Amino acid sequence: MDLVIKNGTVVTPSDVCQADVGITDGRIAQIADHIPEEGRVIDAKGCYVCPGGVDIHTHIDSVLHGMRTVDDWYYASLGAAAGGTTTVVDFPLQPAGQSLRATIEERIEAASKLSLVDFAFAPIVTQFTDDTYAEIPGLIRDGHTSFKTFMYYDWKIDDYNLARLLDVVGSNGGIVGIHCENAGTIDYLGAKAIAEGRTGPEWHAPTRPVSTETEASARVLAAAAELQVPVWIVHMSAGPAVRELARARAEGVCAYGETMLHFLCLDESYYARPGLEPLKAVVTPPLRPASHQEMLWDGLRCGTLSTVGSDHCAFPYKDKIRLYETRGKKFNMIPHGAPGIETRLPMLFAEGVSEGRISVSKFVEVIAANPARLAGIYPQKGALMPGSDADIVIIDPDRKVTMGTAMLHGKTDYTLFEGWELQGYPVATLSRGTVLFENGELVAERGRGQALKRGPFIPF
Ligand SMILES: [Zn+2]
Repeated sequence: MDLVIKNGTVVTPSDVCQADVGITDGRIAQIADHIPEEGRVIDAKGCYVCPGGVDIHTHIDSVLHGMRTVDDWYYASLGAAAGGTTTVVDFPLQPAGQSLRATIEERIEAASKLSLVDFAFAPIVTQFTDDTYAEIPGLIRDGHTSFKTFMYYDWKIDDYNLARLLDVVGSNGGIVGIHCENAGTIDYLGAKAIAEGRTGPEWHAPTRPVSTETEASARVLAAAAELQVPVWIVHMSAGPAVRELARARAEGVCAYGETMLHFLCLDESYYARPGLEPLKAVVTPPLRPASHQEMLWDGLRCGTLSTVGSDHCAFPYKDKIRLYETRGKKFNMIPHGAPGIETRLPMLFAEGVSEGRISVSKFVEVIAANPARLAGIYPQKGALMPGSDADIVIIDPDRKVTMGTAMLHGKTDYTLFEGWELQGYPVATLSRGTVLFENGELVAERGRGQALKRGPFIPF
């Protein structure tokens, strides 16, 4: 063995057990009651030994809403590693006139130079042309097996292309993640609010009501059912939309839902905070009334919701303020997005496992295993079993941390979870057997992360 992790509580796909984990050549060689000490030894007594987090919803180094997100691949992956995430599947936006393949290749080049963790790209399809559809089967064959599209924003998809994209991707072994909001209703409500002088950030949520997410989710689920292809609804925030998903799944639709920490832990009262503080939480869909949180936790517990992503979209607070103020102080001119790549796993552990809302097995399922399955990289990633990559996060359930911007590693200047008292925190992160982070210190080199070749989507 090159490295043995001793005495931890290991979370495997089938068990939670006291065991040692032996690592050779970057992979898990053995999980057993007792592995003789050999090579480097890490004592994980009192800690959970879990698969490293897999975050399949990020916007790293991306231009959105007229500005570039501030974390490049070094800083984003630094935050990921510090927070226990070892694989990132990012959503690059297909520029007008550019192929999906060129979009992916350009990003692989950028990330290869900087990333500390392994990565892949699921492009946001924006050019609904015959050329785009023609390249999709080849991309899937080459290991680029997931895609994203939006029902809101300038690059939104219409119903014809929604059906076509779902069909072309799904019938060739891939899966599409969809941002579900009814654009027409939202644009009308927004225009009406502004015409009536209701322009402040507190109008962000009322102009994107729950019904717009529920309707769009139901439309996507109906199309997937009709075409008999898989679909994945990203960042679900609203109880009624989750109910639509549950109904579709019960009827046999191969549909998956993702939620986010900001929906599980925060609510729309954030938009009533003083001054410009609400700008920090201008995300889409918006934060919902607190009553929705329990429906989301229920969705995770009962399996309707399969994953928890970060939607890491790091616009600094100061830039959100600047753009709000220079674009006429209107809520619909605030860049949408918030950081989350580093806080995702610790927040879900503390609020989920330590607070008794979910088991540690469920935690691993929604933070690592299921995202890896959706991305076509399971069980290379997302599982502790012999043969899997030795991507591991060691979590000390007794460690108490006050979450705050000062302790985080990205380049943005805020977190939505400032001041939260967390019970349990990662103490070490390993990627392919290499320690990345240990006791708060980075001990790995930038550019060590590798592009992943992914397999076809397999329903689970
Ligand atoms: Zn997103």
